[in-house]
Amino acid sequence: MRNATPPCLDTFCRLDRLGLSVTAQRVEPDHTLLRCRPTTPPSTCPGCARPGVRHDAVLRRLAHVPFGWKPTVLEVVVPRYRCWPCRRIWRHSITAAAPSRGKLSRDAVMLAVKSIVVDRMSIARVAANLGVAWNTASDAILATGTELLIDSADRLEGVTTVGVDEHVVRHEALLYRMEVGDLHRLAVVAAK
Ligand SMILES: [Zn+2]
Repeated sequence: MRNATPPCLDTFCRLDRLGLSVTAQRVEPDHTLLRCRPTTPPSTCPGCARPGVRHDAVLRRLAHVPFGWKPTVLEVVVPRYRCWPCRRIWRHSITAAAPSRGKLSRDAVMLAVKSIVVDRMSIARVAANLGVAWNTASDAILATGTELLIDSADRLEGVTTVGVDEHVVRHEALLYRMEVGDLHRLAVVAAK
């Protein structure tokens, strides 16, 4: 095997790119739990910008991309720090791993958006794959989809051909979805 490296769960689960490292795992029949710690530098005091001292830690659960046909849950131990002169307490920033107050890791959000936009899966299916509630998946998809596809000023750069498609998403509710696709880019993707 060329360019082989020792096995590493952080690399395999792509957590190193999210600023996390696995410290323990628990494989359950219906999901896998990975306890993680942040690998990014500690956040400094928001009042005086000096480094704080470790105060305690809180747990933050994030749905990650599924492995082994079942959901993966990241249980991140987030340190909290204290600044004695400022009397402030703050959390270690893990925005590299997930949007603030988000319940999905950044990779899980991107998988969810791709599943909806490219693979045309239902939100219910995406939520089931990630092991989260329908509303949790929907909120994350809408927030990131708006940021990437609507708020982006250069979203139409390079687009040469667009197509409009309308189809029934849920027959019982007569809910329709209209899509505008970049046909030129889709053609390139399909050629892969
Ligand atoms: Zn301070």
